[in-house]
Amino acid sequence: MKALTLTAERTLTLVDHPKPEPLAADDIVIRVTQSGICGTDRSVLVGKFPAETGVVMGHEAVGFVDSTGPGVTRFAVGDRVIVNPTLYCGNCANCLEGHWNFCGRKAGTEVGLDYDGSFAEFIRLPELFCHAVPEDMDFDRAVVVEPLACALNNIEAGRLAAGETAVIVGGGPMGVVTAMAAQLYGATVLLVEPDPVRGRLGQEIFDAPEFGGRVTVHTPDDPALAERGDLVVDSVGNLLEQSIGYAAVRGRVVVMGFNSNASATVRPLALLQRGLQIIGAGDYNSMIFPKAVELARQLPLERVVTHRFALADHEEAFKALAAVPGTEYTALKVVLVPPHPGADA
Ligand SMILES: [Zn+2]
Ligand SMILES: [Zn+2]
Repeated sequence: MKALTLTAERTLTLVDHPKPEPLAADDIVIRVTQSGICGTDRSVLVGKFPAETGVVMGHEAVGFVDSTGPGVTRFAVGDRVIVNPTLYCGNCANCLEGHWNFCGRKAGTEVGLDYDGSFAEFIRLPELFCHAVPEDMDFDRAVVVEPLACALNNIEAGRLAAGETAVIVGGGPMGVVTAMAAQLYGATVLLVEPDPVRGRLGQEIFDAPEFGGRVTVHTPDDPALAERGDLVVDSVGNLLEQSIGYAAVRGRVVVMGFNSNASATVRPLALLQRGLQIIGAGDYNSMIFPKAVELARQLPLERVVTHRFALADHEEAFKALAAVPGTEYTALKVVLVPPHPGADA
């Protein structure tokens, strides 16, 4: 099969890779129809996040069940599934307490980082990490369920309540999905984005009548943002100081974006006097995934996808995400589509 693997130079290359087959009794092989490019993928290619050389990248995937191990009970060949890529062992100290997102045995199970991922025609996963696509949902929406799970995790870690104001920092795909979810939770949402292209794309999405004006887009220096958020979510990962400035008295600031190079200076007295809380949610716990599938039925997630590219056109795809030096954002969510000659997907 065709797959995109990571080279030692932190670039992607399209290779012929052995097609996965079920190994364990509960394994499912999925014929990938769409796979979203995540901020993490981009971070790997620009050197901000580690991944194993030679791995098939990608972790946000949907597709059809292609084959199953003999122990698979919930799925049959041809079923439509969404991948939950947050694998956990179930057996370490953290897993035994239900904190699957802090599994201590993640090595070798990080999909698209050190476990072969979904920028490929096929991917193999245990049944536990596959979820059925609801009948009334198409793949175009389902492919954004995984980012929604991540958004819900951060919103819930920040204890967002109806009637509150949420400031979402960063108008990339994660910021937009988080803003969509926050308004569904009953918040007034201010989305912050400096890049004019992304700001305009976000504005177009939230101008739609179903959002009822509950989400507005702002540039970072907009005075309307100062000390405004009951909840502030840094979807970028290196904007903690800025995010603290957007927090209201007794506000919660959630660090969401992954950036292994970022550090920040905070004034402890400001936290103390303003009663602020800084929260790190970790990866989402898999328990939230069914909720993401359900809430996706109420959110036009597909509108965050601005571009689709064939696997072979991966360079163009990442260029649209400004992951190539000298390029600028021209996209929100970009989705890769593997080749399946003769398939009806
Ligand atoms: Zn992701
Ligand atoms: Zn574990």
